[in-house]
Amino acid sequence: MARPAEQRRVAQGLCARAACGREREAHGQLCEACRVQAADRAARRYEALRAGGKCPHCGTRDAAAGRLCVMCWFRNVASRRCGSAAHADMLRRKWVAQDGRCALTGIQMVPGDGASVDHIHPVSRGGAVADPDNLRWVLTEANAAKGTLDDATLFRMCRLILDGPIARAYALRDQGERAE
Ligand SMILES: [Zn+2]
Ligand SMILES: [Zn+2]
Repeated sequence: MARPAEQRRVAQGLCARAACGREREAHGQLCEACRVQAADRAARRYEALRAGGKCPHCGTRDAAAGRLCVMCWFRNVASRRCGSAAHADMLRRKWVAQDGRCALTGIQMVPGDGASVDHIHPVSRGGAVADPDNLRWVLTEANAAKGTLDDATLFRMCRLILDGPIARAYALRDQGERAE
């Protein structure tokens, strides 16, 4: 919505659409009716693309990676995890460099299905958001387990948990099952 005529209408408190003439909503560029209509149209387009097996975001490439195409998925992760979709290519190069394997478990990952970007030095502890050296692909579950820990703390906790009473009980149970 950068066209001058639209900007002028919005500045006057009117709906951005030409030939509408209604007042715009307080926190938007359209009137309520036009907003609802636009949302409706977008939802129908999204569903039509999805039904046709196309990525609902770009509308051109085949859908994969959950519901998006692989490229849109990388862009989506980049914008959520690294602050900008512009980092998508960097994340894709990382993926290729790791051969699509989780950096923590070594397990083969699938784009859009349980793969996520980990900040090695957590952002909440001052780690860089988009520095390639601070990023790696890991399984979403491994990332959830790591949370805001650094590697040293994570590995220490893993060892303590494995030596703890619950894990020991599991190990004894496994031995019992094998002995039967
Ligand atoms: Zn309108
Ligand atoms: Zn796409």
